[in-house]
Amino acid sequence: MEAKARAYVNDILKRVKEVNNGEIEFIDAVTEVLNSLVPVFEKHPEFIDAALLERIVEPDRQIIFRVPWMNDNGEVKVNRGFRVQFNNAIGPYKGGLRFHPSVNLSIIKFLGFEQIFKNSLTGLPIGGGKGGSDFDPKGKTNNEIMRFCQSFMAELNMHIGPNIDVPAGDIGVGAREIGYLYGYYKKLRNASEQGVLTGKGLTFGGSLARTEATGYGLVYFTDEMLKDNNISFKGKKVVISGSGNVAIYAAQKAIELGAKVIALSDSNGYIYDETGINLGAIKEIKEVNRGRIKDYLNYVPSAKYEEGCREIWKIKCDVALPCATQGEINSESAKILVNNGVKAVAEGANMPSTLEAIDIFQNNNVLFAPAKASNAGGVACSALEMSQNSLRLSWTFKEVDEKLKNIMKEIYNNAKNSAKQFGNPGNIVMGANIAGFMKVAEAMMYQGII
Ligand code: NDP
Repeated sequence: MEAKARAYVNDILKRVKEVNNGEIEFIDAVTEVLNSLVPVFEKHPEFIDAALLERIVEPDRQIIFRVPWMNDNGEVKVNRGFRVQFNNAIGPYKGGLRFHPSVNLSIIKFLGFEQIFKNSLTGLPIGGGKGGSDFDPKGKTNNEIMRFCQSFMAELNMHIGPNIDVPAGDIGVGAREIGYLYGYYKKLRNASEQGVLTGKGLTFGGSLARTEATGYGLVYFTDEMLKDNNISFKGKKVVISGSGNVAIYAAQKAIELGAKVIALSDSNGYIYDETGINLGAIKEIKEVNRGRIKDYLNYVPSAKYEEGCREIWKIKCDVALPCATQGEINSESAKILVNNGVKAVAEGANMPSTLEAIDIFQNNNVLFAPAKASNAGGVACSALEMSQNSLRLSWTFKEVDEKLKNIMKEIYNNAKNSAKQFGNPGNIVMGANIAGFMKVAEAMMYQGII
């Protein structure tokens, strides 16, 4: 049976590579997930007969659209918009919108594919989707951002709804953008459907703790993994890449648990502060002034700044939390981290470690937490926001935070137990893929060939 399962997976991977030629990020994401599912197909040949993999690697639909908008000088600009609705076997499509010049179909598809299993892992009824645009919000005025969001929503509104597809934020899309997107959806549809977007402001249906959720959730997950291996965050040196939503709140929770966060970065470079980063300064630079990470030197002149995104991984640390973007830890960075004695690497960003980097961590006994498990706190809290919108009430910060903590603990245990059950104890990558897949697979089996 093992040979049949392996042959089935290889066959699907070959086909995925052929029909999605050149979509490197998507192919990498599918390869990672499918390779760890071989033991599942050994135990469940009925999944092969139902062509589950053939169906799950093909999005339900992919929408690509023109987004024309006018800048403050009266010039017309055109960007490309995307929404990939990947799989709704267990609930409405759910996943963020990314505004970044690097966005293309491959990136949106990889993110949407990952989202299917991540959302399943949360234990909440949400399917997988993702969207975005190659629009670059950097340097744009508020009015330009608003006009872009309105044009983007002019098309997107036709494809989403509280029971159909519920987008949220991601890179370049925060509370400001979600506000403009929601405002225009409401205007176009004449419907106050708060559950259509998550990450909203607190005065119009947002959830307390949603801003903090991905970063806090990442640290809750990492803490579980460390404790399980008799390690504590207390006194540990932590390096975090990025300085956006995920990085800032991961840093906040890690500091609360007694760790010392010594470095943060942005796409230009990183800052190193051996005394421990002053997070108040970072929040002012990034959340208020929308400035660059090197501005930190104006607050703490004794800190160091160096250009280059990957250089941050040269810093000796106990725990590394990549929270910027995909592919930021390659095999070279992974080797440096291992040689410097890193104990744990937990992904806050989506797919920040290349497949080779993950192998290096696993072969060197570094505790490794894959994104679809460790950064699921954001979407879990988004689903809690949808629940509050349906109930038309708001839970307190403490209530949401408690639920988040329990969800992250459950995800860890679930991934750990699945890895053990399918013969690879301690392999959280495999365990998370299997646990996320099983629920979706069972739902698909019940729902017939669709
Ligand atoms: P933000 O836009 O708030 O911050 C992104 C950070 O990463 C910024 O510091 C940015 O620097 C840096 N960055 C972005 N692109 C690059 C690049 N190509 N090279 C180097 N640095 C880069 O995004 P989030 O914090 O929301 O998201 C970060 C990651 O976490 C993404 O992978 C996202 O998919 C993932 N994630 C986010 C969730 C959320 O709830 N927000 C939920 C789950 C996952 P600069 O400002 O210079 O561009």
